Amino acid sequence: AKRLRLILGDQLNAAHTWYQQQDNDTLYVLAELKQETDYAKHHVQKVCAFFAAMQAFANALRNAGHRVLHLTLDDTAKYQDLPALLTGLMSQYQVREFHYQLPDEYRLRQQLSRFCRQLPIAVMAFETEHFYLSDAELKDYFSKGKKHRLEHFYRKMRRRFNLLMQGDAPAGGQWNYDADNRQKLKVADFEFVPAPLLFSNDVSDILTRLERHNIKTIGLAHSSLLWPITRHQANELLQYFCRHCLANFGRFQDAMTGKLDPSNQITNGQLTLESEQIPAQHNKQRSLYHSRLSFALNAKILSPQHVIDTAIASYQQADGAITLAQIEGFVRQILGWREFIRGVYWANMPEYARLNNLAAERQLPSWFWHGDTKMSCMQHAIKQSLDYAYAHHIQRLMVTGNFCLIAGINPDEVDAWYLGIYIDAIEWVEMPNTRGMSQFADGGIVGSKAYAASGNYINKMSDYCSDCHYKVKQTHSENACPLNALYWHFMQRHIEDFSSNPRTRMVYANWLKKPEQTQQLILQRAQYLLNNIENL
Ligand code: FAD
Repeated sequence: AKRLRLILGDQLNAAHTWYQQQDNDTLYVLAELKQETDYAKHHVQKVCAFFAAMQAFANALRNAGHRVLHLTLDDTAKYQDLPALLTGLMSQYQVREFHYQLPDEYRLRQQLSRFCRQLPIAVMAFETEHFYLSDAELKDYFSKGKKHRLEHFYRKMRRRFNLLMQGDAPAGGQWNYDADNRQKLKVADFEFVPAPLLFSNDVSDILTRLERHNIKTIGLAHSSLLWPITRHQANELLQYFCRHCLANFGRFQDAMTGKLDPSNQITNGQLTLESEQIPAQHNKQRSLYHSRLSFALNAKILSPQHVIDTAIASYQQADGAITLAQIEGFVRQILGWREFIRGVYWANMPEYARLNNLAAERQLPSWFWHGDTKMSCMQHAIKQSLDYAYAHHIQRLMVTGNFCLIAGINPDEVDAWYLGIYIDAIEWVEMPNTRGMSQFADGGIVGSKAYAASGNYINKMSDYCSDCHYKVKQTHSENACPLNALYWHFMQRHIEDFSSNPRTRMVYANWLKKPEQTQQLILQRAQYLLNNIENL
């Protein structure tokens, strides 16, 4: 081959201009690599999903007439890392040109550019052609250390890509309908919650391979993978979302429930898609009205444009059955948050990875790795994450994330947990969400305030508290919800960081109104909890 083109596991974009022509001189390479299974302790389903999707992509390219080399861990085990593998392949195939797509992760981008600097052959780096904003223009929108705000960026993006616009004004007259999106799910709503569309991709070979190569993973292994791994499946999931979830997406976006038991999910994607009447046994899950598209998006199996255009088209065809607030909320997540987070990442790396603005130094409690805690909200969010490699945004932000924030867990440990456990976790999107939005370790680059909350918030947005060992209405008694005292302890310890912020001024007014003796009892309770953090 004259030319070797590398395709990374999260670059499965079949619409890339690379593939417009078949060419016998070009060899496409996809490789399972130990450096990728080992840079974090990943959820086993996440490794399976990437490996299975890579394999499916290799097959699809081959069927489309391209020359493809798909290497498994068995084939690559003898190479120390990606550069070693590439060096080996280049001499084996007498390659004279090397092409790659710009990695979205700093670690890989550094590794490849360092490797290429010493290559004696021609090298070309390409855009991934996935995001709304190209890599080259990110610098026009984001600068290092600047406290950019989502809302400002989001409006620019709406205008520029002319999405949900009427002329120069936002459709409906308002840019953002977030205030309509805060409903709790009540028992009476349960019967309407659609079952998730699940697939059953056989990954038993991959599991055996992981074992053979002694790959350390976390979470529950299923030989049948529930996540979409091909463009066809990902499109089915998108259609299913538009048909069954979009109409309530915004409304229940922040709601959480532990009452829908996920233990007996049934996996038959086709069936649920075809049937309007979803069988009751499928109605047992917690992704609620969320799309579960993050893996397909982050692996670039689907493009954000395609997802948004499809959702807007079904909004337009729904004759009012889907309201503007629902579609706007969905568009904001992908056109707004997803692109914003990526911009922040690239403007601030590599320094971002070390930010610890609140000087949080405590270790992550070991129960994050098995979920055995008496706190019902934490138990639900962690066990579900270990079983399904999924939790929705508010579970990540306001349950596990909030706990780490107010308990003062070291952001390196928090990042490592989030980077491993979720099906969609890739550093460019995981890190600004975790270290920034959720831990406020960036001092406000991503968000204007720390998302700290007491048990009251969990009680408002979920049904977790009703069967919890702890009492959500109590603050300093023996069985009081730990989040309450920890919340006040956090606010008190950071009084200098936050008291001038207009968004937290009210909170401090409330704290200072409490009798000093009550303040002392609360702080003592918090100290006790922190000293016994392993046993919560
Ligand atoms: P939906 O609720 O259906 O939203 C639709 C899509 O919008 C998502 O698929 C995603 O692509 C995008 N989106 C929504 N919110 C965000 C956001 N804040 N940032 C970027 N994209 C967003 N998302 C990841 O893709 N990878 C991560 O590693 C990741 N880590 C997170 C860690 C923390 C602490 C927090 C608070 C959030 C994190 N998120 C991450 C963002 C968000 O929680 C997930 O994208 C979402 O839960 C995925 O589920 P879904 O596809 O059902 O999303």
